[in-house]
Amino acid sequence: MTRYDRGLMWFRRDLRAEDNAALYHALKQCRQVWCVFVFDTDILDPLPRADRRVEFIHASVLELDGRLRELGKAQGHDGTGLIVRHARALTDIPQLAQRLHVQAVFTNHDDEPAALARDAQVLGALAHAGIMFHSHKDHVIFERREVLTQVGQPFGVFTPYKNAWLRKVEPFYLKAYPVGKYTASLAPLPPPFDVPVPRLSDLDFEPTNLSQLPIPTGATGAQKLVEDFMERIERYDTARDFPAIKGPSYLSVHLRFGTVSIRQLASLAWQMHLQDIKGASTWLSELIWRDFYHQILANFPHVVGKSFRPEYDKVRFEHGQHAQAHFAAWCEGRTGYPLVDAAMAQINQTGYMHNRLRMVVASFLVKDLGIDWRWGERYFAEKLIDFDLAANNGGWQWAASTGCDAQPWFRIFNPVTQSEKFDPQGKFIRRYLPQLAGLSDATIHAPWSAPELELVAAGVSLGRDYPHPVVDHALAREKTLERYSVVKR
Ligand code: FAD
Repeated sequence: MTRYDRGLMWFRRDLRAEDNAALYHALKQCRQVWCVFVFDTDILDPLPRADRRVEFIHASVLELDGRLRELGKAQGHDGTGLIVRHARALTDIPQLAQRLHVQAVFTNHDDEPAALARDAQVLGALAHAGIMFHSHKDHVIFERREVLTQVGQPFGVFTPYKNAWLRKVEPFYLKAYPVGKYTASLAPLPPPFDVPVPRLSDLDFEPTNLSQLPIPTGATGAQKLVEDFMERIERYDTARDFPAIKGPSYLSVHLRFGTVSIRQLASLAWQMHLQDIKGASTWLSELIWRDFYHQILANFPHVVGKSFRPEYDKVRFEHGQHAQAHFAAWCEGRTGYPLVDAAMAQINQTGYMHNRLRMVVASFLVKDLGIDWRWGERYFAEKLIDFDLAANNGGWQWAASTGCDAQPWFRIFNPVTQSEKFDPQGKFIRRYLPQLAGLSDATIHAPWSAPELELVAAGVSLGRDYPHPVVDHALAREKTLERYSVVKR
């Protein structure tokens, strides 16, 4: 192990001081360590000025700064904390490393193509200045080419991947990095870096409705959700498909920004899986899906923008004004299909959408409206607080049947039967579409099928209070089968 006098820990999608691989290595290998987070203008500049993710990151960075101060103080070092920059990370990290006279920069892997390109440039600039760049696995349990088929190829199908993942996993991969053992290396911030974290307004962002949503921020927020979910995990397998009830963990945003450690979660789930607790086994599978899509992105980067299976690039989607109008109706929750519209209201109002609904609305966009999955993928990327390129691309390609281990193209969700099955009493629909609240449990899934008298009694005039359906599902289904038949030819 190389030892250094001075090191810099660069936080990115790992906003926690506990069980953090790169922080652990930095503190262990260096006598003095400074920590930095960059609000990267390359990422922030194109965003709208109110963005829940920026606010979530800002709150979590504030908490991380406080935690690093506490850890330093406990070692008798006043004035430790986080250096927070608002700059281009690409140039700022090498400059900062030189100004602090560090010999090494430590960080955790980020396998998104843009991040890899940025890191390659940072590494080059650091190398030019004689500074080492160490990057570690932290975000997933198994990454890149760690889980391979028997012939040494990356998996493209989930079930054999999951089986191989489960064969490989052992306590070694799940144990926490004991950061606390080495916090004596946290060094006080030297001037001019010993300044408070900038305010959201200093970054030129406005507050959103985040503080009114049940999305606690920071590592402490994540632990609250973990505790809450552990009381319910045994019921996860039966509860997770019903958007009206509290079934899933709501930890996705914390996994995205690393305010929780994947090792902590996978370890909890794995222990319970070994005790045959069904809910935990199902949840562990979801965490394995997350690893699966990360290795897909790392090994098949063409999925950004192209179908995983190239023959699906032959499918021709709708274009022009009509498609634009349908797309706008979908984005704004005006399709006339209540479950789809309620789900779009959920993402627009909160930045979160239940997993079952992500599948329903994605299928509706692609297979009922005939619109390119990439349009939907982009909309989710703008709106989701937990937006993650690997999982989002995987989810969209699954729904569009273009991906690895995807829904077969001829299997087309019926938005009404999905609604009857997964929101049987229309509770979720009523929460987001109060104008339909007076309809019966039977007709709320398809208001156009309600008798005129019931509509009048419920105060619903179709076309005024709620739209007529933008397409007929049965006809749309036929068109989609025709559209996708090119892959057979
Ligand atoms: P839980 O049910 O509690 O699951 C626990 C964790 O497992 C999640 O937090 C997530 O990290 C992981 N996970 C669960 N399902 C999946 C999955 N299918 N693929 C990969 N990881 C999974 N997830 C994202 O984190 N970011 C996205 O941008 C994203 N986009 C999606 C787009 C579409 C079209 C679809 C169908 C799914 C998408 N998902 C995405 C996966 C999934 O819907 C969310 O992870 C889940 O709804 C988050 O809620 P939760 O934390 O309560 O999940």
